[in-house]
Amino acid sequence: MSAKCKSCGSCGMPMEKVEDFALGDSNHQYCQYCTDKKGKLLPYDKILAMNAKYYMESQGITADAANKLAVNLLKTQPAWKEIL
Ligand SMILES: [Zn+2]
Repeated sequence: MSAKCKSCGSCGMPMEKVEDFALGDSNHQYCQYCTDKKGKLLPYDKILAMNAKYYMESQGITADAANKLAVNLLKTQPAWKEIL
């Protein structure tokens, strides 16, 4: 990953456009999907469910497998590795 391309500190999604960032703020550390309308990070359970759903749909895998993938991804992210 290049230094210029930021990624979300919660789900790891690359944030290329300003709209990808929470609140449309390119200095924000999280993406729009991981935050609420005020730019606050959503609870872990919500992020986990959101990522698992994404894996299920994009990779055609079972909910169980998708959940494991999401757990493994999130525990490497700065937002979650402290609390998991
Ligand atoms: Zn995110």
